[in-house]
Amino acid sequence: MSIHPIPEARHFDPILREDLGALYTARAARLRALAEGHELSAFLGLAAEITFAQQAAIRADYAGTEPVDAARIAASGCWLPGLETMIAQLIGRVPEGVRPHLDRLAALPEADKITAALALAESRFDAVDPALAPFIWAALSVEVAQAARAAPLPQKGDEETTYCPICGSHPVASHIHTSERQGMRYLHCALCDCEWHMVRAKCSCCGDAGQLDYLSFDTPEAAIRAEACNDCGGYLKVISAERDPDVETVADDLASLVLDDAAVSEGFGRTGFNPFALPG
Ligand SMILES: [Zn+2]
Ligand SMILES: [Zn+2]
Repeated sequence: MSIHPIPEARHFDPILREDLGALYTARAARLRALAEGHELSAFLGLAAEITFAQQAAIRADYAGTEPVDAARIAASGCWLPGLETMIAQLIGRVPEGVRPHLDRLAALPEADKITAALALAESRFDAVDPALAPFIWAALSVEVAQAARAAPLPQKGDEETTYCPICGSHPVASHIHTSERQGMRYLHCALCDCEWHMVRAKCSCCGDAGQLDYLSFDTPEAAIRAEACNDCGGYLKVISAERDPDVETVADDLASLVLDDAAVSEGFGRTGFNPFALPG
């Protein structure tokens, strides 16, 4: 090991595509841990079950190599068998109150399921029943995430973009990495579960660097803070594995929705969303 590492030796990846099975395992475990004693315990537990079911919907024989087009994937219906797998697994594991929604989703004609998925892929969230949307999103996400891992990387992948450079969806939050990417900030995609790099201390929505506030409940060193921009009025959370090595972006974002309430009451608007707390 060198005491003075050569900068060029540190490989920089503008896009990270974590193994999907490992990602779902870590997320479900983190959601279950966060659910204990949490005031949103049932909600976090349900998100853990959905994540666990997503793992079962990963296709062993996935073989797509085209650039990712979420709307085309939604319209093709290729995610429907995955949804069926997920519903079969979830039906005995969700709270009583959720079962009727799953039954209703299972009974929905395929054409209606596809219409709903297409609306979600095109950010028309109001067009979809909010009780069914998270399940449809989760099944679509498994398929888009597999496509994102099989697709060629975009050529201009080192440009810093507000939206996901692979699938075009919104970020959940920023993730500050540790170990070999110590201190680097990536945005985590709500749909394909990839991450893309962005330098720190600038607004992930408008790019302004001068007028940021960091909101948190604990100390200024809190692992989860809202990066709020006084230029565009947007905010997104920054979730730091440097400060807490156990964090998982989607799980910790979901378990800190109370920080969203605080940011919104300060007049800021969230610029991305969590897959388990869709807009609309
Ligand atoms: Zn994406
Ligand atoms: Zn901004």
